[in-house]
Order: sequence, then structure tokens, then C-alpha cells
Amino acid sequence: MTSQCLFCRIIAGEIPSTTIYSDDHVYAFRDINPAAPAHILVIPRKHLSSIDDAQNEDEALLGKLMLSARAIARSEGLSEHGFRLVINTGDDGGQTVHHLHVHILGGRSMTWPPG
Ligand code: AMP
Ligand code: ZN
Repeated sequence: MTSQCLFCRIIAGEIPSTTIYSDDHVYAFRDINPAAPAHILVIPRKHLSSIDDAQNEDEALLGKLMLSARAIARSEGLSEHGFRLVINTGDDGGQTVHHLHVHILGGRSMTWPPG
């Protein structure tokens, strides 16, 4: 079945991606338009439109998402110098793909505040 959601289609293999990590609950792949030397997206296999869409029943899944991001950052060699996790949410948050995703950004020094 063809899904309308871009990231559901990536999970289904209908759109190619560079896999970084995959398990029963979480999938991670390289961002197609990297904003830093290392830019990886970590997504739940379950379609949630945004963090605003998450429910109490998603508590364990959200824990897996964050611990996966931590493990991936470590395996990509980002832990020593640090990295940034970003969850853009809604229009003002700059969210363009409406399937919850955690950006892992690293490999350079980040600035604050973000744009
Ligand atoms: P956001 O703006 O937080 O919704 O982030 C969406 C991210 O998805 C952006 O950083 C895009 O570069 C990335 N993106 C869009 N299409 C693809 C794709 N086909 N493969 C990998 N990353 C993508
Ligand atoms: Zn989706």
C-alpha cells in the first residue's frame, strides 16, 4: 500500500534512504539536505505527525527514540565533542515533514539561539 507520508514511504522502502540504524520501533537515516557535517534523522516506525501528536501510550516509544538518538550519536563519533538534538514542531517550529523526527546535528560547533 502506498502511504502519503514521506517518512512512512522511506520506512516502507518506497523512497530510498541511507540507513544508519533500524530496529522494530525506530529507523534512522541521513538527511538529504545536511545542515551540519553529521545530520541524521531518527523516526518512530509508528506514524505520529509531531511530538504534539504523541499520547501517554507513546511514552516507551519516545524513550526508545531518544535513547536511539543517543546511541547513534555515540556510534557516529559525536559524543566526545557534543551534538544537538532538534524536534521541529508545527509551522512556527519549522516542521516541514509531518512525521515525528529527531534531528541529530553534529560535527561542528552550533550557535544559539537558532534561527
Ligand atoms: P523538518 O523541517 O524538521 O520537518 O525536517 C525535515 C527534514 O527532512 C529536512 O531536514 C529535510 O532535508 C529532510 N528530508 C526531506 N526529504 C528527505 C528525504 N527524501 N530523505 C532524507 N531526508 C529528507
Ligand atoms: Zn508517516
